[in-house]
Amino acid sequence: MVYDDNNVFARILRGEIPCRKVHEDEHTLAFHDINPQAPVHILVIPKGAYVSMVDFTARASDVEIAALFRAVTKVAEIAGVTVEGWRLLSNVGINGGQEVPHLHIHVFGGRKLGPMIAKPV
Ligand code: AMP
Repeated sequence: MVYDDNNVFARILRGEIPCRKVHEDEHTLAFHDINPQAPVHILVIPKGAYVSMVDFTARASDVEIAALFRAVTKVAEIAGVTVEGWRLLSNVGINGGQEVPHLHIHVFGGRKLGPMIAKPV
């Protein structure tokens, strides 16, 4: 998967399309997923152009990496899910089901989230 400057999250970062922002800092942006799969479904993204977790851990600075993971926890706190529990998930590549080629971490919560992954069909 290659980085496409016109992917939807790059366009959100450039302000070309709107998002429902939850949190922002120097290195990250978090916003509500447009098609939520749980009462809380927020996406946390780095501001840098990284395709996936593989690309991010290879090329991002330690500061960017720390900022992303701190932002994930911050978002869970803002969403009020840290006491009852929540889940973070990042899809990578075709088998992972990644649709948008800009690294994003899903934050889910607000209900019992069920099995970790779907059973094979
Ligand atoms: P993934 O399948 O892990 O690549 O997840 C992509 C996610 O991006 C999906 O959950 C979509 O609902 C979400 N999404 C796509 N377009 C937008 C958008 N404009 N604003 C917010 N979330 C979006």
